[in-house]
Amino acid sequence: MSTEFGFLAQVHRTFDRAAALTDCCDGLLAQIRECNSVYRVTFPLKRDDGTIEVIQAWRAEHSQHKLPTKGGIRFSTGVTEDEVMALAALMTYKCSVVDVPFGGAKGGVRIDRKEYSADELERITRRYTYELIKKRFIGPGIDVPAPDYGTGPSEMAWIVDTYKSMSNGEQNAEACVTGKPIEQEGIRGRLDATGRGVFYGIREACSSAEDMKKLGLSPGLKDKRVVVQGLGNVGYHAARHLADGGAVLVGLAEWEGAIANPNGLDLDDVMKHRKETGSILGFPGATDLPHTTDALELDCDILVPAALENQITAENASRIQARIIGEAANGPTTADADEILLERGVRVLPDLYLNAGGVTVSYFEWLKNLSHVRFGRMEKRFDEAAHRSLLEEIGRATGVDVSSTEIPDLGADEEDLVHSGLEETMVVAYHQIRDIEKSLGIDDLRTASFVTAIKKIAISYQELGIFP
Ligand code: NAD
Repeated sequence: MSTEFGFLAQVHRTFDRAAALTDCCDGLLAQIRECNSVYRVTFPLKRDDGTIEVIQAWRAEHSQHKLPTKGGIRFSTGVTEDEVMALAALMTYKCSVVDVPFGGAKGGVRIDRKEYSADELERITRRYTYELIKKRFIGPGIDVPAPDYGTGPSEMAWIVDTYKSMSNGEQNAEACVTGKPIEQEGIRGRLDATGRGVFYGIREACSSAEDMKKLGLSPGLKDKRVVVQGLGNVGYHAARHLADGGAVLVGLAEWEGAIANPNGLDLDDVMKHRKETGSILGFPGATDLPHTTDALELDCDILVPAALENQITAENASRIQARIIGEAANGPTTADADEILLERGVRVLPDLYLNAGGVTVSYFEWLKNLSHVRFGRMEKRFDEAAHRSLLEEIGRATGVDVSSTEIPDLGADEEDLVHSGLEETMVVAYHQIRDIEKSLGIDDLRTASFVTAIKKIAISYQELGIFP
């Protein structure tokens, strides 16, 4: 078995495995695989105590076959050029899998956000945005960032404000970034979109009696034992929706360690405990595990790594007990580990499909910003009235008095439409990659997802031709 390399090499390895199953020519495959542009920048930060620190940052645009390019911005000490390029490539394939008409990009700033005050984080974010503007690495039709590990709505608000300050009245300036607060033209349903998408994807995978039988599991999510690693934006919301959908959270992990209880953990009580004590450890009734990676090996049906890459490796893959791995994080499974899991018949729901809910709803936010109107604003009341009169008609025909019946939600508002669009996207994409998997005669959804993506991108390149 080959040894593990950097993150980008791992993405390339999976790409090559999938590419061999397509009939695309080598030159086209090479063009799809390469990262088109990488911008590396350093800039000074004046710290609150007056000292000066040099900050390193990147933005990679993997493919411009569709514009704008799209991808989150990560604040982490682990950020490297290799990581940003790998994540940008995954974004290209992810957008393609869920039919979001963007190329892939990713940004990273090498900092530990816990080490900086809110003012310092604002200065870093604004200066980083300025550097992107200077080199035309941001803009509604060019490259549109979003939140990722270590960033959230506040950073996105600083980005849009900086962009607007410098864009001299550009009409669609709000569409330069997604994941913004609602008051800054963000969209309802973006905050939990990735976690919600993870839930829809896992639920869909579990609904197939045939697939579950192969894994020795019963169909449906109910009572499935789940372990989640990382309780940030993606992990927390995925865990919450899975629990609401009937699954039992038997293990939870954060960077400080993990906790387990085969009878189930109440997520919100755990979060409250962490807020009060600074740690998930010591939660009443649960067993403490000293290392976050211990959680990965717990006895469970579904394992959801939702923190960072390279968590399931050749070293621990053979000890994973879960029958299903739902990759909520990007790149949590190394390529070597992936091969071990495949041999062991573990079902891996790959990152480029499973965590695509974030970019899907980001796409909806971008559309909202370009149209300058909230989804549902024009039709909600109209639909409500139409549905009510239909109901009254049925009441008259059946002799049932419905006039005093209080029926809420007869018309869809923005959040309903976002949830519906996200659910439709995740369900349709799941069946697309599952069908490709079947047609290839393989048991490997990651390869099937890459094949799906490569084929769609190849068509796009072939139709566009080569300039000049
Ligand atoms: P986040 O910063 O909101 O949360 C990450 C969480 O993981 C934090 O609570 C952190 O304390 C925890 N953590 C860090 N190191 C850990 C470790 N070693 N073990 C256990 N927990 C650890 O980040 P996020 O936005 O939730 O992103 C998580 C993953 O999901 C990343 O891989 C990111 O690229 C991916 N992702 C995020 C989005 C999005 O919309 N935010 C979309 C797609 C993919």
